[in-house]
Amino acid sequence: MGFALRSWVEISLQQIADNFKAARELVGPEVEVMPVVKADAYRHGAVEVSRTLTREGARWLAVSNVEEGARLREAGITARILVMADFLPAERAGLLDCNLTPVIHSLGDIPEWDLLAASRGIRASYHLKIDSGMGRLGTREPADQICRVVRAATHVRLEGLMTHFASASDYLGSQTEDQSVSFERTCTEMAQRGIAPDYLHMSSTIPVAYGRTRAWKQMVRPGHAIYGYVSPVSGATSPPKLLHVKPALSWKTAILAIKDLPQGALVGYGGMYRAPHPMRIAVLAAGYADGIPHRLSNRGRVIAGGKLASIIGAVSMDLTTIDITASPELKVGDPVTLLGSEGGLTIDAQQMARTAGTISYSILCGISARVKQIYV
Ligand SMILES: *Cc1c(COP(=O)(O)O)cnc(C)c1O
Repeated sequence: MGFALRSWVEISLQQIADNFKAARELVGPEVEVMPVVKADAYRHGAVEVSRTLTREGARWLAVSNVEEGARLREAGITARILVMADFLPAERAGLLDCNLTPVIHSLGDIPEWDLLAASRGIRASYHLKIDSGMGRLGTREPADQICRVVRAATHVRLEGLMTHFASASDYLGSQTEDQSVSFERTCTEMAQRGIAPDYLHMSSTIPVAYGRTRAWKQMVRPGHAIYGYVSPVSGATSPPKLLHVKPALSWKTAILAIKDLPQGALVGYGGMYRAPHPMRIAVLAAGYADGIPHRLSNRGRVIAGGKLASIIGAVSMDLTTIDITASPELKVGDPVTLLGSEGGLTIDAQQMARTAGTISYSILCGISARVKQIYV
């Protein structure tokens, strides 16, 4: 093969299966768990993850766009697939070609979907998103108007009504409660007019993990939890976390070079770091092009030789420098842990995110395509 891995992620499909099982057990058999596998399953590999989840009994998967759904179909995934982040007019036919179920976000798209289904002589389904207060995607039309449009579209079936919370982790403010009330009001008013779809769904990881049972309805949409993460919530009266999951991904990179620097030597772009004493540094074979946040320059940490080692100097595109003075046994080719556990120490995406001033989602999704996925 002639090349070695410079940076890779090790993904435990068993852990993903366990996390999915934990979510299912928590919500019980009456609530459908639709795992979110968008963005390459938060970089865990959408195809492998989807195969695992469907084998474990997932009947629904959620993706962001038509292309992500098409990839799963090409890989032979037969579960229902919900496309959540809208579609461009040119993608509409692709939804039907790949047997994907769209979330429709504006009423004007319902007659278009109807027309397309009619032209193919099939009866297609769709879910409709209600903007209950997030102010992003979703319709804000009143229930009677929604019902008129839904009823007029006779070749398509409204199968689900959904909404999304803007501030699920905030147990101080009332936005989540307000959104729940608004969504339920719309659903009730539609039901009074005879339109009651099979699925009402509104919960991502946090409302599942912290037991906001009123928001579970017939279906929940956890993403982060499937990959082993539940963000903390704020508020004096924040509820206990009921869902226990573990990260499924470790991220490693190889030591490319090792050198000893004299006191006063500068390290990397901008001479951002100056050796305060003679030190040994390792140059790692990964940089911001692999997804290591540039903001970790001079402040992040990795685990090298079973010890925490500081990132020194700027994170550059393909390389990162660390202080390994405390680990003289390390040699070129040794793996270093960017995310994961080694020697009893752990760095997870939440910790890395805190240091980098971002969120764990962005750390996971930011692991770039050139980082190989290895399933363990
Ligand atoms: C991404 C997404 C989810 C999953 O969110 P997590 O916080 O990762 O569980 C659920 N619903 C919608 C609409 C999303 O876009």
